[in-house]
Amino acid sequence: MEELQKELAQLYAQVRQYDYEYHVLDNPSVSDAVYDSIVRRILAIEKAHPDWVADDSPSRRVGAAPLSSFATVRHQVSMLSLNNGFQEEDILAFDKRVSDGLRKQDVITSADEIEYEAELKFDGLAVNLRYEHGLLVQASTRGDGVVGEDITQNIKTIKNVPLRLHGEAWPAVLEVRGEVLIYKKDFLALNQRQEQQGQKVFVNARNAAAGSLRQLDSNITKQRPLKFHCYGWGQIEVWPHDMPSTQEGMLEQFVAWGLFVAKQRTVTQGAKGLLAFYHEIEQARRDLPFDIDGVVYKVNRLDWQQLLGYVARAPRFALAHKFPAEEAQTKLLDIEIQVGRTGALTPVARLQPVFVGGVTISNATLHNEDEIRRKDVRIGDTVIVRRAGDVIPEVVEPILVMRPDDAKEFTMVEHCPVCDSAIERLPGEAVWRCTGGLFCSAQRVQSLIHAASRKALDIEGLGEKVATALVQNEMVHSVADLYDLRLEQITSLERMGPQSAQNLLDAIERSKQSDLAHLIFALGIRHVGETSARDLALAFGNLEHLMQASTEQLQALNDVGPVMAESIRHFFAEAHNRKVIDKLRAAGLDPQQTSPKQQTVAAIADKTFVLTGTLAHWSRDVAAQYIQEAGGKVTGSVSKNTDYVVAGEKAGSKLDKAEQLGIEVIDEATLRQMLGMPQEAED
Ligand code: NAD
Repeated sequence: MEELQKELAQLYAQVRQYDYEYHVLDNPSVSDAVYDSIVRRILAIEKAHPDWVADDSPSRRVGAAPLSSFATVRHQVSMLSLNNGFQEEDILAFDKRVSDGLRKQDVITSADEIEYEAELKFDGLAVNLRYEHGLLVQASTRGDGVVGEDITQNIKTIKNVPLRLHGEAWPAVLEVRGEVLIYKKDFLALNQRQEQQGQKVFVNARNAAAGSLRQLDSNITKQRPLKFHCYGWGQIEVWPHDMPSTQEGMLEQFVAWGLFVAKQRTVTQGAKGLLAFYHEIEQARRDLPFDIDGVVYKVNRLDWQQLLGYVARAPRFALAHKFPAEEAQTKLLDIEIQVGRTGALTPVARLQPVFVGGVTISNATLHNEDEIRRKDVRIGDTVIVRRAGDVIPEVVEPILVMRPDDAKEFTMVEHCPVCDSAIERLPGEAVWRCTGGLFCSAQRVQSLIHAASRKALDIEGLGEKVATALVQNEMVHSVADLYDLRLEQITSLERMGPQSAQNLLDAIERSKQSDLAHLIFALGIRHVGETSARDLALAFGNLEHLMQASTEQLQALNDVGPVMAESIRHFFAEAHNRKVIDKLRAAGLDPQQTSPKQQTVAAIADKTFVLTGTLAHWSRDVAAQYIQEAGGKVTGSVSKNTDYVVAGEKAGSKLDKAEQLGIEVIDEATLRQMLGMPQEAED
């Protein structure tokens, strides 16, 4: 018992420190996932021992005390936090709490569905803007919810904050509330600038916004691209006419007064409506120009909001429905070495399965030996893992305070764990590699999986399991052996029925139709990616020419540098690789790409193009391919060497740059004309 109480006191101290770093210094030392897991532990202990709850427990508080260097502002109406929900059940429970509450007050019957206003949850810094007679007189941060900092000068530098409200008939005192943000693209540019100038780089857009807003010198704030998004209000004295009766009505009035309110919001009915909005926003999230960490639901009728009232730190009439954390905490059970296609030895964390970013994961990459040392990750640690979008899950950091005494340091293997060959680490490289080459069955399996992948020979049905079985049963040594496989061999593999075996054979047969670019990519030459493979195919026309190409000829191509050229030469110099290629050609895989010379279009040849914006008919990739096939060059950024900028819809900074440099800007139709193509796209 005493132990637990001691733990609680320790956790309080930790949270106090993290709150200070996050809210006051804008410089968190741990991720939100770590912070949230500690808070959850506190809540669990407090639930079992309500008499232990301290006054400054995070369950009672909002944010942290203000920074001493700013003048303080006492909020007329407290700035609260929001209750959170993560799962569908939490949203159903919220809707039920609201209906139960209103039913108790006799304002609805059990059949009534509640109307909600649903909006985005912006991941920035909460501020209060005070307008008196339409003029901005004071702005403050949330601080601890009761007392915040006076940041009036800094807020005045934000362009979408009106210094004087539009329209007329405002209340004598109107406090609007919202979040100050930095948009994603501005955040990247800011960090780039910070790095160039040797200044502090921000961990995320939220901290960049907070750090920028809480500058003592407002000239610095002025250079930071901050934006204000309004979502609520504080003190209002006195509304001159009829005050809107709903949340949505208030927001519309704010828009009329010149305040920015994001348009991604809706008015909807019941839990079903809320969940539909959540799913819609979840899809759109990636394309939003700013970060959000969820959506917020508010009972739309203001009189009902008042009836429902508040709990300690949050309103009862609202709920933040947060996106699943892209980070989670779990136990690191072991570190194993995985051998990749090129022999790279990657340490992989075996984890206690954990739900993160919407899926359950049990493995995560640790990148390489140096990374493990740098992060000081040990076997037995509790670690934070991250899975954002489609990116491979990774171990972010250990939670040092949770490290057990017997946590074990990782030691790198001395030989390849699969084939026992020597391993080497080339100067300047972070990874160790197995020197076994195709002698190493792990490398053979991975090369086969790569060769069969969609961007290579696209052999459906040849995944990890089948590839491993084929290699282990000595049926396939290289990709070329696939073309010798017979039906009875495949059916002899475990769990391979006659139909799947036939399908696999058919897919292998179909792959003989692959074009040269796909075939080159399938060979798995180090440093040769999909795009380079396409360039090589266009330039050399067939395997024979590519194999004979000199380093100089290779380097004459756009994107082929010395490292790639050397890697290609080295690949074709190896006798075993030449054997594979001979065998592939004998099996019928020897595509001939029409010579690029014949396709060259005079208007395009040797000209440099930059593509920007959304084209009407083609993706930019396809347009780039046509340009390259016609002998032109496509680069990523506009410079004085650019001949044409092809601009589609929503073209951004590249278009501005082109105009500055006086470079000719053309549209897709003109490009098609130059390519000698019909005006209507067939695709
Ligand atoms: P919160 O972020 O979970 O949600 C409440 C806040 O959301 C409001 O105060 C408001 O500022 C904001 N908000 C955004 N859009 C809104 C909208 N449309 N309507 C109303 N409000 C909106 O809670 P919090 O108290 O602001 O912050 C706590 C979070 O901060 C924790 O979950 C934690 O992850 C993070 N934190 C991290 C550390 C760290 O060290 N990493 C330290 C302290 C806090």
